[in-house]
Amino acid sequence: MTDKYAVIGHPISHSKSPLIHHAFAVQTQQDISYQAIEAPLDGFKSTIERLVNEGYKGCNVTVPFKFEAFKLCNQLTGRAQAAQAVNTLFFRDGEVLGDNTDGVGMLADIEQNLACKLLFKRVLLLGAGGAAHGVIWQIFNAGATITVANRTLEKARQMVSEFAPYGTVIASTFEGLEGKSYDVIINATSSSLADELPPLPDGLFKPNSLAYDMMYGKHSLFMKFAAEQGASHCADGLGMLVEQAAEAFFKWREVRPDTAPVIAKLRA
Ligand code: NDP
Repeated sequence: MTDKYAVIGHPISHSKSPLIHHAFAVQTQQDISYQAIEAPLDGFKSTIERLVNEGYKGCNVTVPFKFEAFKLCNQLTGRAQAAQAVNTLFFRDGEVLGDNTDGVGMLADIEQNLACKLLFKRVLLLGAGGAAHGVIWQIFNAGATITVANRTLEKARQMVSEFAPYGTVIASTFEGLEGKSYDVIINATSSSLADELPPLPDGLFKPNSLAYDMMYGKHSLFMKFAAEQGASHCADGLGMLVEQAAEAFFKWREVRPDTAPVIAKLRA
């Protein structure tokens, strides 16, 4: 029997997740269906209850429901607990299990696909929303020192507070970055979606810096700014999107798909 999965968001029509999971299913010969479902903004919980009742095996969760998904889980993986946000749900025996594959997905893209190891690197993480929460634990575990800069400083402070006892991780405003430079600068704000650029000072990028915009699908103002400022490597978040999906697929199906052909297909 075909096992049913879905991605839940609002809006959702733009989502590439159905395409990605169908490609994985064909490649690994898994008998699954995967559809995009738009939940009403006040109807995430009831949508999940419906999916459980209809026998779905799990789903992905995207904007704006990742924090709400975190709250409704009966069980959480360690990385979901660290992120305080969930992008992958499993439905088992009436229980809802939550995981977060965004961090692992981004790390696989940066360290494997882009061959940029984070050990001992100075990483600047821009933003303190769901995406930034999802990746900070993995960046920290990869052995980097982290600065989190956010428009609302208090949110950055709150985010770094749990890591502060274990290593170098500090919170900053955008103005506070003046005079500093980083090896890897990750844009985890949603500014690129609105064709905006956070007010970043000059001099953040070094010649070998990697500029990584989690947004994908267009050459963002952030990527243009990074190139103008001398960053030699710029990447968007398409690789992360496919890698986080691959990790979710692996957790659901216990078979790991090959991401390279799927990334290439989406780029084409
Ligand atoms: P959230 O709404 O949770 O957080 C938005 C963040 O962006 C906040 O830190 C907010 O700051 C900041 N922000 C918004 N507008 C601006 C602006 N104009 N200038 C500076 N900062 C701004 O969004 P998410 O964290 O869920 O998503 C962020 C981005 O990551 C999106 O572009 C999304 O598409 C992308 N993403 C990509 C993934 C992938 O697989 N490639 C996976 C997940 C997300 P403040 O706190 O001050 O409001």
